[in-house]
Amino acid sequence: MSQSVSPKLSTPFLVTAQQADIIRAMRRRGVISRTDIAMMTGWSRAKITNEVGLLIDKNFIKEVGDGKSEGGRRPRLLSINNDLGFLVGVDIGATSVDLALADVCGHVFQRRSEAADVSNPPDVLLGRVSEVIHEMAQAQQIDPGKIYGIGVGVPGPVEFSRGTLVAPPLMPDWDNFSVRRYFEAAFPSAFVMVDNDVNIMALGEFYTSGKINPDNFIFVKIGTGIGAGIISNGKIHRGDTGCAGDIGHICVDKTGPVCRCGNKGCLESISGGRAIAERAMAAAMNNESPILARHMAENGGFLRAEDVGMAQREGDRVAAEIIQYSGKMIGEGLAGLVNFFNPSHIILGGGVTGLGNQFLANIRQSVLKRSTPLATRHLVIEYSRMGTEAGITGAISLLLEYLFYVSDDVP
Ligand SMILES: [Zn+2]
Repeated sequence: MSQSVSPKLSTPFLVTAQQADIIRAMRRRGVISRTDIAMMTGWSRAKITNEVGLLIDKNFIKEVGDGKSEGGRRPRLLSINNDLGFLVGVDIGATSVDLALADVCGHVFQRRSEAADVSNPPDVLLGRVSEVIHEMAQAQQIDPGKIYGIGVGVPGPVEFSRGTLVAPPLMPDWDNFSVRRYFEAAFPSAFVMVDNDVNIMALGEFYTSGKINPDNFIFVKIGTGIGAGIISNGKIHRGDTGCAGDIGHICVDKTGPVCRCGNKGCLESISGGRAIAERAMAAAMNNESPILARHMAENGGFLRAEDVGMAQREGDRVAAEIIQYSGKMIGEGLAGLVNFFNPSHIILGGGVTGLGNQFLANIRQSVLKRSTPLATRHLVIEYSRMGTEAGITGAISLLLEYLFYVSDDVP
């Protein structure tokens, strides 16, 4: 069984599969003409007139002016009707929550950010999130009944079909809690989608307007832990139970340290942010690096991954070696994915990417060394340019994937 969405998906915008194709093209290109649709689909003129007419009658799309003439009459341009209603994106991180209010085209027009602690019970944190959504709606003079979708990213494993967290290490009180059901009760007009933070970052990267999005890429988040979101043929690949991309627990060194999962030598326990910081603290305490020791003293006896990056830029040899080793091991883990999946891009995000260009160069070198020449001929490995935006853009994008819901019995 593949991961389908619950049958109780209550999006109000039902379309046929053909109409969904038209809307998908509009999502990626903004506006399109009937001629563009003909080129993309190969459908007859009569069929296009019919499908576009039905979408206009439903008020889902509208004509928005004229395009450039290709010799004859200027073609009418079509776009999604952005007055239909509103969407909310919620990106829950370990220590903060970001929210955005957007129209149904995905244009964000209000943002909020608050400190939050996910070790709190879910109803405390989500109660506050609901309050903030009402405040945002009020500030924009929006009727909360016009909020048609709430997309939520959470920092833990999600059983996607139920919108439920399963044994999340950072949030013990949330085990088996349905984030979807919570928001469906709080906002009855909205359909609710929930996914893990890495998948929504991958979607955010995929839907960022103004750039050509690759159809086959891997988004790798390197923070305290390491995880990947996989875009395959233009769609997110979640796997059978929704946990595809949990690459942090791939074994890269059988003799490595014991990971929090109980196994030895997981990628995360060797190259994650915590591993980098711990290695640097050990070096500082063993008097191997005066620069790291100084940073540690300044921070009150503690180092973070970004301190190691700073020490490296100050010329510290030990910091450079730690970063090089971490990059090399991440590259070895990713090389396995490159050989298996053959992506055109690997996009790296998360806090540890703040380590800078040397880290990226180490990862790249190691991937190239371990992958087959054909798989890496056009492979691009780069840092995400979205920074902290990826999560919130992705939470909205998750809704856009399902907003116009395909149903067989729709005219
Ligand atoms: Zn592990």
